[in-house]
Amino acid sequence: MDTKIVKIEEDNIDQEMIEEAGKIIRSGGLVAFPTETVYGLGGDGLNEASSGKIYAAKGRPSDNPLIVHIAGMEALPKIARKIPVAAQKLAERFWPGPLTMIFEKTDCVPYATTGGLNTVAVRMPSNKIARALIEASGGYIAAPSANLSGKPSPTEARYVIEDMNGRIDMIIDGGAADIGLESTIIDLTGERPIILRPGYITEEMLEDTLGSVEMDKTVIDGNSSQPPKAPGMKYRHYAPKGSLTIVEGHSLAVTEYINTQLEACAEKGIKTGVIATDETKEKYLADCVKSVGKRSDEEVIAKHLFRILREFDDENVQVIYAESFDSRGMGCAIMNRLLKAAGHQVIRL
Ligand code: AMP
Ligand code: MG
Repeated sequence: MDTKIVKIEEDNIDQEMIEEAGKIIRSGGLVAFPTETVYGLGGDGLNEASSGKIYAAKGRPSDNPLIVHIAGMEALPKIARKIPVAAQKLAERFWPGPLTMIFEKTDCVPYATTGGLNTVAVRMPSNKIARALIEASGGYIAAPSANLSGKPSPTEARYVIEDMNGRIDMIIDGGAADIGLESTIIDLTGERPIILRPGYITEEMLEDTLGSVEMDKTVIDGNSSQPPKAPGMKYRHYAPKGSLTIVEGHSLAVTEYINTQLEACAEKGIKTGVIATDETKEKYLADCVKSVGKRSDEEVIAKHLFRILREFDDENVQVIYAESFDSRGMGCAIMNRLLKAAGHQVIRL
């Protein structure tokens, strides 16, 4: 398949191009597009065949549900059976934005979109290209992240092109994603709201609106025996090609430990990488040392993490060590992604 690649500027949207992309989605095709979180791989969320194509293009297991993207609140009742007061409050404060809410689905939403579940995940993105595309596509775009299953989510169009060129109809390049991590997911279908995936919207922010909120046990603890709430939570995610290990402990001990490992790798001719911070990047002896930013600036760390994981792939790094991060606030989302990328390999010093 020929994939058309187009550039659109968020502040000067080419409406003709958006109409063309919308037409592709309305007629059952797939378009990758920018959002404020990461790039999405979009198809018509109410069309069973389109969702099937999304799973095929990503190589994603079909029990891993998709998120349906809408552009306005008036679109919600068609796909969500009940809209609890909690959801209205969250929508008022955080939509459009990086928050996904789970509702009981209506019959309009095919099981192909929800991975066989009776619930549907819904998000209203703030990125203007995404919003214009949703409007032009009939109002309901099912979109997972636009990467091949298992790989880090794409935060720039070049990574979408790497994974999806030849597999979908169109890729819209709208520049680098602002946030760089996928949306926070909150399940509102039970007695108490539960965070299924941490993100830019933190537990504290949600509690500020709703009172108490639970965090799903599997979010940080890879060894939790609790079954995952959503099938997708069990799959390997974000993984670089090289083997990634997180090292936790006092900064000096971490640098010393990692450097010892790096020397051993160097002797065997293994290409190494380190995910460091601005404070420590000069201290490592790896072939590729990449800083995610200043340790105190979590927004910058979130924005750089997936790109850096991809860069190690580009440079064929075989063994990667990462420093660990504070898992409070937005750090929870950063550590959740890093732990999944590392397959929960952690050395605690
Ligand atoms: P991605 O689109 O790659 O960001 O992944 C979407 C994720 O949303 C899935 O892996 C699920 O964990 C979650 N999700 C989507 N729909 C549901 C649902 N109905 N219930 C629970 N989680 C969901
Ligand atoms: Mg994904």
